[in-house]
Amino acid sequence: MFNRLVIVAFAAVLAACAGSTPKSAPPVPVPTATLAPPPLNSGLDLAGFDRSVRPQDDLYRFAAGTWLAKTPIPADRSSYGSFIILDEQVQEEIKQLIVAASEKPNRPLGSDAQKVGDFYLAYMDTARIESLGSRPLKDELARIDAIATPRDLARYIGHSQRLAVGQPFKWFSSPDKANSTVYVGVLSQNGLTMPDRDYYLSSDAKYAQFRAKFAEYVEQMLAGAGVREAKSAATRIAALETRIADYQWTKVQNRDPVKTHNPMTLPDYQKLAPGFDWLAFFEGMGAPAQRLEINQPSFIKGIAQLVKTVPMSDWRAYLKFHVLDSFAPALSAQFADLQFGFREKTLNGVPEQRPRWRRAVESMDRNIGELIGRMFVEAHFGPEAKARVLELVGNLLEAFDRSIDELEWMSAATRAEAKEKLSKITVKIGYPDKWRDYSTLNVRSDDLVGNLMRASEFEHQRHVARTGGPVDKGEWLMTPQTVNAYYSPLTNEITFPAALLRWPLFDADADPAVNYGGIGSGIGHEISHAYDDSGRQYDGDGNLRDWWTADDRAKFKQRTGALVRQFSDYTVLEHPLNGELTLGENIGDLSGMAVAYKAYKISLRGKPAPVIDGFTGDQRFFLGLAQVWRRNYRDAELLKRLVTDPHSPNEFRVNVPSSNIDAFYDAFDVKPGDRMYRPPAERVKIW
Ligand SMILES: [Zn+2]
Repeated sequence: MFNRLVIVAFAAVLAACAGSTPKSAPPVPVPTATLAPPPLNSGLDLAGFDRSVRPQDDLYRFAAGTWLAKTPIPADRSSYGSFIILDEQVQEEIKQLIVAASEKPNRPLGSDAQKVGDFYLAYMDTARIESLGSRPLKDELARIDAIATPRDLARYIGHSQRLAVGQPFKWFSSPDKANSTVYVGVLSQNGLTMPDRDYYLSSDAKYAQFRAKFAEYVEQMLAGAGVREAKSAATRIAALETRIADYQWTKVQNRDPVKTHNPMTLPDYQKLAPGFDWLAFFEGMGAPAQRLEINQPSFIKGIAQLVKTVPMSDWRAYLKFHVLDSFAPALSAQFADLQFGFREKTLNGVPEQRPRWRRAVESMDRNIGELIGRMFVEAHFGPEAKARVLELVGNLLEAFDRSIDELEWMSAATRAEAKEKLSKITVKIGYPDKWRDYSTLNVRSDDLVGNLMRASEFEHQRHVARTGGPVDKGEWLMTPQTVNAYYSPLTNEITFPAALLRWPLFDADADPAVNYGGIGSGIGHEISHAYDDSGRQYDGDGNLRDWWTADDRAKFKQRTGALVRQFSDYTVLEHPLNGELTLGENIGDLSGMAVAYKAYKISLRGKPAPVIDGFTGDQRFFLGLAQVWRRNYRDAELLKRLVTDPHSPNEFRVNVPSSNIDAFYDAFDVKPGDRMYRPPAERVKIW
């Protein structure tokens, strides 16, 4: 599924898209680590600590070392840590609700229970799925076979938006950067099977291996669906994707909100990308020709060239492959296993598929997320947790406001704008006030691929219908059962889904220090995104507007430049961290931690914190934060993240920000010679 809008997530924890796939053999039971809070009122999991490491040398391993050593990555995971364990727990709770819905004797057609129950039954009906092979895609593949001209191709590219396949570029609606009260249609680059353009273009031998496996995968998928001369088609598809990769902007370029802001009318983009039949594109999409925000103009221009010059037979093969790849998890094991083998085993290093019921829950989360979310919240989220978290948020906002007041490097004019933006942040906790209306979505127990297609069409029509209209400020861009959080610069809002508000992030029964280190740092992180290198370019109303004086801008860049250099100095698997790609998240982590610490002090109202489990309040704040981020990675997954993930690997999300915060030095008496020590002049403070 697309990432439809510009949002900044707390953690890129879960495989976002097509990664889940069925398998014919019965699933192997996977031991699930327990995530009950330890029986301690500190909220710290002391058994996970490694006392052979000094916190002054490595805070992360001191707080997590034994847990890291004793917790293997399950065979069906590419990494394993707090967020994924929480997600597994949530999935188990949701499964019970879904199964209960599917077993209800009386499920009136069109009711929530019918839709939820039948989606699940369709996903679990492997006998039917096996018997169908790739036949559910017969009509779609025939539609592609009928493409004979560049005009047909443009129409099909429009049509592919309705299936959420969206190749070679994707369309969606989003609040307009220039007027955030109105939705505008956006065109953004897409078109690749592998995770990033680097996988196609890099001279690194590792990527050459992936490219060889990729061509094999394409050939096998096409051959499985009866495409003739699959080997030569695969070679041509790989060549076409390489040309598409070459036109793509890098992830760092795409982080620039100004360069990706290119509003154009129909004549503008007809002129930019001649030879592409835009009217046919909109016809295929089922939407009127419209003003568009074009994120990467040179990419769209390049695609128009390819539409004109690449043979239609190559395009047909490319589109067929993408349809097969997109729907493979819902096809027979032959296709699902092939997809797992490439996307999960080869690219992420995962040995085994997840149990089918988990893949069903993941698919339902993507396709009818708020239907399940509503059931989840009614069963598992109470008003007390919401009230406690709102109190934390209040202290975080107050602490951030004070931090802005104390910034010695910022002029009064910029400071006033920053404070105004803070006062306009919308806070969303738990679940949406108004649930999405799925009444027009038809779900059947005997038609899995049809369910997925109708859910994509439903989502597409929702985007088409609202384009040009007013922005729905109540919309949630994550479901309540998502173990994550986000900041959206276009609506200036921070959102914390119900599923995140659990130990080790939040424990209503624990001493406040760990809660400020855990969810408090998370709240601070999201608020800080309003002021990171990208978010700072939007104002409090979500409009892209430069409210900085030239001098303040220069000072900000000087500070963030120092942070880029700090992170780029570290290597993982002999690859340097990309300090530019991760800058926004690193600012979020650093400023979030600093402001959460300040909020913790505010919450004490001048009273001293007790010593619990042998640690002071300040120590527990940092230890609570560190235990949130404990996580083991497979090498392939880590390598992928170095190229694609705007977040730094978890140990750096703990140790680098801490080493910049004076309170950490005081809490643990860190001295010159300790490995985490940085001289005061080298510590970066941004917010
Ligand atoms: Zn973030």
